[in-house]
Amino acid sequence: MNLYPAHHLQRQRLRLALLCMLVMLGLWASLGAIAAHADDPPNSYVVQSGDTLWDISQQLGISVEALIAANQLQDANFLSEGQRLVIPGSGQQDQTQTNTPSTNISEDPVAITGARLNTPLEILLRRHGFTMRKLQLMESEYSPLEPPPPNLPEPFFEIAYTPEIIQGQTGVVRVTLTEAITPTARYGNFDLSVLYRDKTREGYRYEALIPTWALAKVASRKLIITAAEEQISRTFDITRGNYETQHIVLPPSKGELLEPQKTRAELERLTETWQEFDPVKLWRGSFQFPTDEEHRRTSPFGTRRSYNDGPVTSYHAGTDWSAPEGAPIKAPAPGVIALAEPLEVRGGAVIIDHGRGVFSNFWHLSEILAEPGQHVEQGDIVGLVGSTGLSTGAHLHWEIRVNGVAVDPTQWAEAYFPNLPLYSP
Ligand SMILES: [Zn+2]
Repeated sequence: MNLYPAHHLQRQRLRLALLCMLVMLGLWASLGAIAAHADDPPNSYVVQSGDTLWDISQQLGISVEALIAANQLQDANFLSEGQRLVIPGSGQQDQTQTNTPSTNISEDPVAITGARLNTPLEILLRRHGFTMRKLQLMESEYSPLEPPPPNLPEPFFEIAYTPEIIQGQTGVVRVTLTEAITPTARYGNFDLSVLYRDKTREGYRYEALIPTWALAKVASRKLIITAAEEQISRTFDITRGNYETQHIVLPPSKGELLEPQKTRAELERLTETWQEFDPVKLWRGSFQFPTDEEHRRTSPFGTRRSYNDGPVTSYHAGTDWSAPEGAPIKAPAPGVIALAEPLEVRGGAVIIDHGRGVFSNFWHLSEILAEPGQHVEQGDIVGLVGSTGLSTGAHLHWEIRVNGVAVDPTQWAEAYFPNLPLYSP
């Protein structure tokens, strides 16, 4: 029973790769030796660098004892490069015999090649200056220092993830594979883009963010991870968020903006924007709030919303501050401006692409101070607070979207994604 299949297979694969390499080296060296010494009398052998008497005996198909006797060697362990050895029975001692079978070796490289491929690993290693001890050393350099992994099928080495995610918050799944195969991860019908790859001591590490809707069903969910036709499922729980319900009454002029075709068209435009992102993580550390500290947070993320006494089908996708008209809006983290234009429902809008499917959105701006494609650093001013679009007064609305899902920005201001404490069963 093999408890450490990943390690074991990895080691086996390494050994196989090394063996292949050495066989090829040996083959190349043999052919080279034959070519270089084609003019030598076929009844002798010129010692090559790294040769041992055992190598030569195997190569020529004669015993070590016969070689020692024929060459009157004093020390069987000492051969020097370029030393010419008499091949016993080849006719050098008996000049009347010139075409013994052993001399055919140098005339038939294919025959040698065939013999070569059957040469044991140890002989090949010695021929090329490797010893078994050296090989073991090379293996140990690749051996993980971590405790043995749980029994996962190849190419999985480890799966670690957030076991509990509050509605509207973001979780993380980290998959370590022994091979560089990009895995896929999903829960329900939701595809998590697995983007980040990093070579670690254990193998190839991939990470995906798990965003959840603030209205997501409170339940156990299955996380399905696939790599090289192997599928692993893990369970995480979506737990209840502490969100209130807000009833918003809009004046008739603003109410018109809620017409379904207008809101739908705008959302489609935004969804397109959130689908194209920099695959590289552009943020460093946790995000910072986009407004000065003195401003009060008024409407938290996740509040369920009913407009003009309609049903609760949406939630507050961002966090609001009661900042006055004209107050600066600062980039919460580095990124690239993905959109900067006035929208009908959301008013003056700026979207920052932070990479890996993470976006910051600012709505209702009185002024836009950024241009699409522009790179911004944390703290750069991208616009001014206003009350344009579907807004009942000057305020700053900051929203974070992860793969299109509006998630709690406060969590992003507290944690450094994706460095969350993860659970690895
Ligand atoms: Zn808002």
